[in-house]
Amino acid sequence: MPTYLRRIVGEDALEYLFAPLVSSTFDSEPEDLSGVFVLLALRLLSDGFTLQWFEGGNGLLTRTLAQRVPVRSGANVLSIETEPDGAKVRYRSASRERSVIADAAVVALPGSLVPQVCPKLTPAERAFFDEVHYVRGVIAFLLLERAPAALPYYGVSFPRREGIDLYGLAADHHKQGAAPPGAGLLNAALTARTAERLWEAPDAAVVQHVVDELARTPVGRLAPPQTAVHRWEAMLPQFRVGYTARLAAFLSRTDRSPRLAFAGDYLVGPYTEAALTSGMRAATEIARALDKR
Ligand SMILES: Cc1cc2nc3c(=O)[nH]c(=O)nc-3n(C[C@H](O)[C@H](O)[C@H](O)COP(=O)(O)OP(=O)(O)OC[C@H]3O[C@@H](n4cnc5c(N)ncnc54)[C@H](O)[C@@H]3O)c2cc1C
Repeated sequence: MPTYLRRIVGEDALEYLFAPLVSSTFDSEPEDLSGVFVLLALRLLSDGFTLQWFEGGNGLLTRTLAQRVPVRSGANVLSIETEPDGAKVRYRSASRERSVIADAAVVALPGSLVPQVCPKLTPAERAFFDEVHYVRGVIAFLLLERAPAALPYYGVSFPRREGIDLYGLAADHHKQGAAPPGAGLLNAALTARTAERLWEAPDAAVVQHVVDELARTPVGRLAPPQTAVHRWEAMLPQFRVGYTARLAAFLSRTDRSPRLAFAGDYLVGPYTEAALTSGMRAATEIARALDKR
């Protein structure tokens, strides 16, 4: 991606505007992302994008949807296979193994886990899922007694040329209800290289490193009384070079696993609305397929 973007916008705009924006939004180096994906994302961000959020967090969406249908949670799905009479789902719940035969199943697992749970994928489906890749990431959350006056923005991105071990900082206290009144809540995303280096480090060491790195920026030295560190083995799907073409081929495939549809942000874009869109598509696919029977 950068060669193309560098040619169009020049070195400085790439390093000090586009690369930080892309890296802090998608927790990736721009070199690791597809050009098509980055251009689409830049169009989205520059085309009247405004920050919106669910009060109390993104879980509000799934909790609200779950109120409308019977939901069984806490089940670890072991396999999903198409049988002559339906889609067989084997799962473990309360340390007992059970199974259910459904008319059809929407597989809404992270894409990288699909091949191990769905053993009967078509060869083309398996080849696609083997290429779905996720970013491994670490985020440190810092709760501050007061929201820092130096941060009137929601997001701050750090240009990599400055050698800061963070992609960016989100000031979550701007989201209503995310932090106690007047308090500051920041989340700092470590760069991929730093996340790799500190993956096994104690939380306190990660927080200390984040605070030290921020002290080198205009944000200054912070003294958060409460902190938390989250590590995600599969944080966000990474739309790598060549992925959009593979995705287009997958979406238009004719040889499909019967009675199965797939949903997840890796099929549309790495954010909640995209995951929802993929779920609505999957439901439509299943409804059409069952209608034809
Ligand atoms: C730190 C962070 C911040 C984010 N912030 C935002 C944001 O501000 N705005 C935004 O729009 N998006 C945000 N996102 C992205 C958003 O969370 C995702 O795009 C969205 O959750 C993807 O939904 P999904 O259904 O595709 O996958 P997931 O939400 O990952 O759901 C997949 C589910 O499958 C479950 N699962 C896995 N294996 C099994 C199994 N064997 N059996 C049963 N269940 C299984 C997992 O536990 C998980 O619950 C953020 C993501 C992260 C990590």
